[in-house]
Amino acid sequence: PNENLYDILARRFPESDALAFDQPATADAPAFRMTYAELVGLTNQYANALRNLGVQPGDRVSIQVEKSIANVALFLAVLKIGAIGNPLNTAYTLAEMAYFMSDAEPSLVVVPPDKHEPIRQMAGEYGVKAVETLDSAGQGSLADKADVEPTEAGTEPRSADDTACIIYTSGTTGQPKGAMITHGNVSTNIHALWEVWHFQPGDVLLHILPIYHVHGLFVAMGTALYNGSPMIWLPKPDFDQIIAALPRATVMMGVPTHYTRLLERPELNRELTAHMRLFTAGSAPLLAATHEAFEARTGHKILERYGMTEAGMICSNPYDGERIPGTVGYPLPGVSVRVTDKDGHVLPAGEIGMVEVKGPNIFKGYWRRPQKTAEEFRADGFFITGDQGVLSEDGRLSIVGREKDMIISGGLNIYPKEVERELDGLEGIGESAVIGVPHPDFGEGVVAVATRGEGTPPSEADIIGTLAARLAKFKVPKRVIFVDVLPRNAMGKVQKNELRDQYAELFS
Ligand code: ATP
Ligand code: MG
Repeated sequence: PNENLYDILARRFPESDALAFDQPATADAPAFRMTYAELVGLTNQYANALRNLGVQPGDRVSIQVEKSIANVALFLAVLKIGAIGNPLNTAYTLAEMAYFMSDAEPSLVVVPPDKHEPIRQMAGEYGVKAVETLDSAGQGSLADKADVEPTEAGTEPRSADDTACIIYTSGTTGQPKGAMITHGNVSTNIHALWEVWHFQPGDVLLHILPIYHVHGLFVAMGTALYNGSPMIWLPKPDFDQIIAALPRATVMMGVPTHYTRLLERPELNRELTAHMRLFTAGSAPLLAATHEAFEARTGHKILERYGMTEAGMICSNPYDGERIPGTVGYPLPGVSVRVTDKDGHVLPAGEIGMVEVKGPNIFKGYWRRPQKTAEEFRADGFFITGDQGVLSEDGRLSIVGREKDMIISGGLNIYPKEVERELDGLEGIGESAVIGVPHPDFGEGVVAVATRGEGTPPSEADIIGTLAARLAKFKVPKRVIFVDVLPRNAMGKVQKNELRDQYAELFS
């Protein structure tokens, strides 16, 4: 059979007029519903429109548009015709778009109407053949072209290791890198998640994530499509709408900040979530305090999982077994995880080192960066994630942090998470980010940046005093700085780079 990801999903779509999307009304848009049959028809119309525009198999199609059902149909159409989807964060500026166009060299770029003219002016330079528009209501020049097309279209044959999309990493540690993700990477990963998370008839996914990253696109939308389930489709994570939708949903996937925001809502309780069977979290570490507070309020234990653009999902806490806060659980079926030292030697359980992963989920390489790709793989095919972690005796993984965030002070290694865990447990502290900044005596000095939480915030001296009693002296922050919010990117990740820049002169 055709290994085209579109075909793998579409072969499982329910035949009837089963509901695919249910988008509640908002202040500026009426409610909207779409069946699976209509989704297929719309996808085919987009596929025909793309072919008419001259998009060939293997061509890149860069899509920087707001989350909408038309955007989904467009992405599926790109897969269907064997082109390479390149979804882009809607927050990227025109200057940033220049980098993505020069790197991906798309033959077609799809943007909101207000970006059409500036992008068109830049596009010629990068060999872009066409620039089309799509707005948040699913209207625009590309929608117009699709609208007049027939609702039938052929599917391009693809093999499992053909590239399905190029997704840029979040750019937490530097410039975003284009990860070439194959049809087989996605389909095997979706199948594994579908299995371990017990997707079943009757499931309804509450979809609140953006669809320009692996989390919203494949983990959330992919599993729902694979299960032929309806999605309650929220273009933005609007918390009034989330509260209103929870009684009709069975599964919700979010980033940790979605859960902290939900906890601020008085409506969140057992009754509201009685119909839910699964809440998952990922993309960034979930605080144990959030896990515990959510369980106390709703009776649900949030299931934390771990993944990345280059590897899709890697580990998940168990559906049936114990979900342990602060750990990301066991490798998914077919995925191998090991922890190594800096020379690449495998470490025993209990020792912190680099997390390495192998399996059908691992991407094909960084787009046009063979050097970078070669550096990130071991000779035996394991991918070096850049994350540090530790395995328990029974094979559960805990993520300690990124290698680039590790602090070396006075020649000693400090894993920020160990310090953050202590800080986050103190009364008066909301959340914290521990970083290393240049220090004249120690190389790097430990600095804690924190937000205020409930209760009286302790003084800087008190915090340092408390931590000194709990942590080895070299790990204790030399300074504690309170801020209103920690800087985060669109995926909810704390931008430690930004904090390091901001406090670079602290000890000079
Ligand atoms: P870049 O690679 O450009 O620096 P990025 O690594 O943030 O950006 P993504 O691929 O979107 O880009 O994010 C993957 C990373 O997110 C993982 O490598 C890991 O550091 C982090 N992550 C994901 N899930 C979890 C989790 N459950 N706990 C801790 N960290 C997580
Ligand atoms: Mg990364």
